[in-house]
Amino acid sequence: MTASSSALSEERAAVADACRRLGAEGLLIGTAGNVSVRTGDLVAVTATGAVLAELTPDQVTVVDLDGTLVSGTLRPTSELDLHLGVHRRRGTGALVHTHAPMATAVACVLDELPCIHYQLLALGGTVRVAPYATFGTPELAESVLTALDGRGAALMANHGAVTHAATLDRAVEHALLLEWACGVYQRAAAMGRPRFLDERQQRAVIEAALARDYGTTHPVAPAASGSPVRPVQPVRPVPPVQEGQR
Ligand SMILES: [Zn+2]
Repeated sequence: MTASSSALSEERAAVADACRRLGAEGLLIGTAGNVSVRTGDLVAVTATGAVLAELTPDQVTVVDLDGTLVSGTLRPTSELDLHLGVHRRRGTGALVHTHAPMATAVACVLDELPCIHYQLLALGGTVRVAPYATFGTPELAESVLTALDGRGAALMANHGAVTHAATLDRAVEHALLLEWACGVYQRAAAMGRPRFLDERQQRAVIEAALARDYGTTHPVAPAASGSPVRPVQPVRPVPPVQEGQR
């Protein structure tokens, strides 16, 4: 087995794992949705018609950046233009598209998901809703590519959601984060008019996160000989930004 075919089989297995996780988290419905990961000039992408929550590596097809089949026996997703467009033009490593219920509901109503929680800054803040176009068309791919400008996620009007990132794990985490945020927005909107973070508050969060290396664990310094061992501190979340606070 060559190094490149070995890498491809790892990517195909990773795509299958990602789909099963998205299914277990409730983001997938039947055959709807698609996932891809890029390695060099090749893209491993889910096959059209496959039940994603039960996906196996042989249901992942490998194409080049022009969409030419390189490996696999099944036709790639009907949203291949979208995947290849994001890989080519956004230089991303992985893309996840789902019809997740909370995200899809928001995409049926709003033109943009406001920055209702500081965690949305991991996706770039507000999340645009790409105008509707028929699935699988170049028009839809273009619409989503535009909505993704400077963002890790986009919603698709009356359709679903897209997230992308440098790694497949991160793209999946982004999909879960977006679904959670859309659920929070819906619950908040059911009670009243949700507040959202303004630009100054968003900037303050980014500064605080950079200063504290937010989102990673931090080992404590080794205890000096003879002194009691201190417990490892839990990861400290960024405190919510209050109105008027710098
Ligand atoms: Zn779709």
